[in-house]
Amino acid sequence: MSVLPTFSAAAADRTLDAGDGVVRLAPTWVPRVFSTPGRRIRLHPEDYYAFGKDRGGIDERWLASPIRADNGPATGDFEGLSLVRGAEGQLLPFDQFIAHHQDTLIGSRIWAAYGKWPVFAKFFDNEQSLPFHVHHRDEDARALGKVSKPEAYYYAPQLNNHLAAHPVSFLGLQPGVTRDQLRERLIGFGKGGDNRITELSFGYRTQLGTGWDVPAGVLHAPASACTYEPQAASDVLCMCESWSNNREVPDELLWKDAPADRVGDYDYILDLLDWKLNTDPDFTNSRRLIPFETDESVAAADPGYVEKWIVYKSAMFSAKELTVRPGASVVITDADAYGVIVIQGHGRFGVHPAAAPTLIRFGELTEDEFFVSEPAARRGVRVVNQSSTEPLVMLKNFGPGTAPGF
Ligand SMILES: [Zn+2]
Repeated sequence: MSVLPTFSAAAADRTLDAGDGVVRLAPTWVPRVFSTPGRRIRLHPEDYYAFGKDRGGIDERWLASPIRADNGPATGDFEGLSLVRGAEGQLLPFDQFIAHHQDTLIGSRIWAAYGKWPVFAKFFDNEQSLPFHVHHRDEDARALGKVSKPEAYYYAPQLNNHLAAHPVSFLGLQPGVTRDQLRERLIGFGKGGDNRITELSFGYRTQLGTGWDVPAGVLHAPASACTYEPQAASDVLCMCESWSNNREVPDELLWKDAPADRVGDYDYILDLLDWKLNTDPDFTNSRRLIPFETDESVAAADPGYVEKWIVYKSAMFSAKELTVRPGASVVITDADAYGVIVIQGHGRFGVHPAAAPTLIRFGELTEDEFFVSEPAARRGVRVVNQSSTEPLVMLKNFGPGTAPGF
């Protein structure tokens, strides 16, 4: 990043004012030593290893992120954290921007309940599927001083010109699987090679334009599709599969978030699971996300746009896909603050130019990512598609309690 992030209250005020309550964010890249990039997140082909030797390839882009990545000893000061593009071209750390503006940015309901923006979204872009793992539920996470991590997936066609090496997700457990069967596979983790734990699960082919809801406590090995992944801001996990990316998974990932006195105790891991949700005989219908048009979009019956819920089964977060037709200009209102990523087309988003990039150099800015304050969301944001041929498509991620029914 050529400009070093700095914060001042005056700059934060000027930036929110100049954007009319909508601010632009710089792209936030995160490398991983344990994965191979799927090369679908529009970085220049020579920039996937731009973090340098031994940092791994870039296979994640974090969106509207208020947190830093927990990514080993060489993690940079701002790694994982979104940066707000300031009114005078400076970059302001998003966590300080939120702490300064508080309820006037994220809304009084969420600020009063959480005192922070408790969610973010990611593009997850791995050449291989991830190992089968589980995130702790509330109570188990709280005991570690962490918060639980429900997550959800949406497979946007715009990000998936190929599905990479393993486009099958293993989710949950087959009904009838017993604790003893699962314990046996967990014990196999330490014996070397593949513990074949996903033999106890079901694999689901990736269907573009759909997704999955994955509550905390449910086992999952996400497919190698490029995935839009709204989630709670947390990194608590237990890796249960010993084989991934054509190599062994280190033992410490099995016990990463076990209390010191429970390391080696397989019952601790078995108790992390929500057995009922994992073995739900109707798992597909319970957890699959089929997009549907929002009530507001149906009521508007505006030929210029359509908006759909794409993630809507978690109390913690939700997401919509907005499609504005070529040449159309529409005003879209929402009840709450949200992050935005443009995945196709170009035009205007409020006062900002907006465009899905074709090729991004590491460290360069883009015009594809924004955060909308609650007052601006309620007033409505004008979205203009300046193409005569291509739809303008954006994904919007929301915090707790926005989806219908929550
Ligand atoms: Zn996960």
